[in-house]
Amino acid sequence: MASDQQKQILQYLLYKPLVSLKDLEKIYAAAYERQGRGEEIRDLVRSLNDLLKPAQLGIKSRLCEDNNEEYFALINMIESEAAKHTSEFSPAEFELFKWVLKEIVSSESGSVSSIDCINQSSYIQKLTKTDAQKALDKFLASQWLNEREGEVSLTVRALLELEPLLKKLDEDLQNCKICNKLAVKKVACPNCGAKFHRYCISKLKLKCPACHRVWRSLEEESTPSQMSLSQTLSQTSNPSTSQVPNRRNGGIRRGRSHMESDDSE
Ligand SMILES: [Zn+2]
Ligand SMILES: [Zn+2]
Repeated sequence: MASDQQKQILQYLLYKPLVSLKDLEKIYAAAYERQGRGEEIRDLVRSLNDLLKPAQLGIKSRLCEDNNEEYFALINMIESEAAKHTSEFSPAEFELFKWVLKEIVSSESGSVSSIDCINQSSYIQKLTKTDAQKALDKFLASQWLNEREGEVSLTVRALLELEPLLKKLDEDLQNCKICNKLAVKKVACPNCGAKFHRYCISKLKLKCPACHRVWRSLEEESTPSQMSLSQTLSQTSNPSTSQVPNRRNGGIRRGRSHMESDDSE
């Protein structure tokens, strides 16, 4: 039986598709009238998961590939159920949604410009530009996608819930060699090509944990086919100074004006 405090926290998780660790700590403090940190939060999540198990629901957490913060989401543990949420989308919207996901996972930057998303409507039957804009708003409201400075990328919720779909859309998707979780926004070792989350690799010295090659510097070791490490490790790089090269061969990118660049943050 759930306690009143547990019910209060569950209500919050039901209402908000994504909850940061900081928010969860705040809710914990409000419910229990004392601060909860670290192990207390883990214990809470464990106890809630025990309660949710019979309903095949669970609270999962993951680090955000953008800001390195931990987020929690109450998700359906039945794989096919996550896909059912997309039943709110019309067939044309779903086609666009799949295209957006595929573009994101196959891009070097782990994102796609919102302009490209809208322009893709030209290639989808029964989808006008206005429809595409509305559809994009819907995807953002679902909290599977987020948009920052005109670039659309996956949320932690998408990584948690849509991983099987993402792996189906791009068979080359790899797990991070350090934490063994799916890496969409990633950096690659210039020597062996192993992929890593930037937050995982930034914890290490400049040495590939897969092949042990020591990288001379962040600058020198980046190759044209990979995102510059300094660029991805730095949160403050100037987009105009660096150009992320082409997406993989066969990547479909249409309707993009030459003014747009493929820069990551
Ligand atoms: Zn990792
Ligand atoms: Zn390597």
